[in-house]
This record gives sequence, C-alpha cells and structure tokens, in this order.
Amino acid sequence: MATMKALVKTAKGVGHVELQDKPVPVIRGGDEVLIAVKAAGICGTDIHILHDEFPYWPPVILGHEFSGEIVEVGPQVTGFKVGDRVIGEPHTRACGKCYLCRTGNRQICPEKRSPGWGIDGAFAKFIVMPEVLLHRIPEGMSYDEAAVVEPAANVFQDVLLRTRVDPGDVVVVLGPGPIGLMAAMCARLGGAKAVIVAGTNRDEELRLPTARKLGFDQAINVQQQDLPALVTQLSGGRGADLVVEASGAEPAINQAVQLIRKQGRIAVIGMTGKPQIAFKWDAAIFRDCRIDFHISTAFECWDRTLAMAASGQLNLKALISHREPLEKWKTVFEDVEAQRGLKAILIP
Ligand SMILES: [Zn+2]
Ligand SMILES: [Zn+2]
Repeated sequence: MATMKALVKTAKGVGHVELQDKPVPVIRGGDEVLIAVKAAGICGTDIHILHDEFPYWPPVILGHEFSGEIVEVGPQVTGFKVGDRVIGEPHTRACGKCYLCRTGNRQICPEKRSPGWGIDGAFAKFIVMPEVLLHRIPEGMSYDEAAVVEPAANVFQDVLLRTRVDPGDVVVVLGPGPIGLMAAMCARLGGAKAVIVAGTNRDEELRLPTARKLGFDQAINVQQQDLPALVTQLSGGRGADLVVEASGAEPAINQAVQLIRKQGRIAVIGMTGKPQIAFKWDAAIFRDCRIDFHISTAFECWDRTLAMAASGQLNLKALISHREPLEKWKTVFEDVEAQRGLKAILIP
C-alpha cells in the first residue's frame, strides 16, 4: 500500500499531534476526486485543535485550507478532469436531508465532518474530495494564494455578504491577524470611508506594519493610542458604523460595544477559545446594535472571493508570512501561535 507523510492529531487532549506514515487515500464514491495537495494553510482552528479547544474526531489528519491538482477522478465526475487546479469547500459529509441542508446551508449541517477535524485533511500529500465542493483556481493564481481563499471566503461572507459594509461606513477591525487584515480589505472593497485596524504591543513587529503596508493608515496600537478618541474623530462623534471583532480577546469584545454607534453592526469572527467570557450585555442593549455571529462559508462567497483575489482587489499574497515543508510543522505552528506570522503555508 502506498503511504504518505501526514500531520495527525492522534488522540483527544492537549497536544497529541505528530507526523505519521498514512495510507494514500482512495476514491470510494464515484463522485470523488483524488487531489495532490500543493499548499495547505495553517488556520487558528488548527491551533485550537492542537490545544483541544475545537471539536475533532481523532485520529485525523489536520488541515482544511488547501489547494492542489486533481490526479484521479471517479466515474461519475463530469465537471473536472485530471490536471485541473482546484480548491475545495470543507463541507464534507453534510447529510443533504436536514432542514439546514435543504435550505441551502450545508455548511452548518450537524452531520458535517470537515477535512482536517472530522475526516482526514490536507496536511498530507493527497486528499479525497467530492466534486460538488470543488472550485477551479483561476489562471495566474498561485497554489499558495489559492490555499488562502478558504479563510478569505469566510471573512468575505461575514463582512460583505452577511453583516455588510455600506459605502461611507466608518469601520473598526479589532485584531490585526490574517482574519482581521482580510476584514479590513473587505471593508475597503465595500466602500468604507475609513478603516481603523486596531492591535496591541505584540502586533507592532509584524501585523500592524503589514496593515500599514496594505494602505491602512489608521493601523493603531490601542496600548499606545486612544482608539475611542480616533473613532469619535473619524465618525464625527457618532461612533463606528461597523466593528469587526477578529481578536477573540475579552477586552476587545467589550470594546466593540463601546465603539459601535447606536444601531451599528458588530460582526463576530474571532473565537475566544474559552467556555465563557464576561460581556457588557446591557451596554449593548443601550446601543440598540446588531451583533452577528458567523461560522463557515457558503458557495457564493467562494465564487466572489476567487474573483476578487484573481483581479487583485483582495491581496491575499501579502498575508503569506511562512512557506515551509510539512516536516517543519512544529516551528511554524509555534510561530503562528506566538503571532510571529500571518498566513503560514505548509508544503506536503
Ligand atoms: Zn480555517
Ligand atoms: Zn444536513
């Protein structure tokens, strides 16, 4: 049996992640394709799984943000062929029968088991995916960039399609990690008048400078600068129209309520990694504001994100800080966790 090196979460609990020899997966359903993985991104979710803070079914190969080339197709596959460059939505094993699936929301089906935590994922040489979840990589887009489309599609959906940016909005993004920087780019795409990217001292090395390089002049350190005063100034005293919470940090979550204008919108993307936090509930009521919680992605945002990245209006390349062979996973995971990186790509 052919084998491949794969990064596996071997058991429940903190840690238990190691490189193992695993059998190369085989196509079981006629509608599946075998993909040679060319690039796979490390997600905050992978770090949460390492620390036992996100659901998963071990033993399982990690990695859900990937790009690759089709090397084999099942007999019922009609839209793709060997040699096609693809990425895939991670909504495998959605049942197709429940209320959510039948209302077009397979991405939140309770039966869903995504590659990388529910079934074997992309930190390996090969992965099997059903045809129905594939998207073609546009010509000229690198595999590295394509591997970053999954998180970008999340942010695109949350900021632009669901919570929405209105032209002329004053937008605050809390947390200048890859997700926050993507949110800032989406806010600019949506016609925001001003986009403030807020971080802390630990973001001074890489994340805030990257934000500035991407053209966000209002990329500030809240431990050095007065964020509420800046929001007041840029919004003519009203408060922010939209706050994107991309930090998962309790003080920032509460600051979102402080910064939002009355009847403004808060888009929640960052996970806290904790069972519960303290939240200024009544302050939010007095804001008369909307708070949208988001998880996962639907077809439409993939389609649109690919188009905007291909046109250069979403600069995903600028967010890639690491590109290392899979064997170096440990140091790269450590860099990502210590926020010494943005998007890190592993090459299996
Ligand atoms: Zn992810
Ligand atoms: Zn379902």
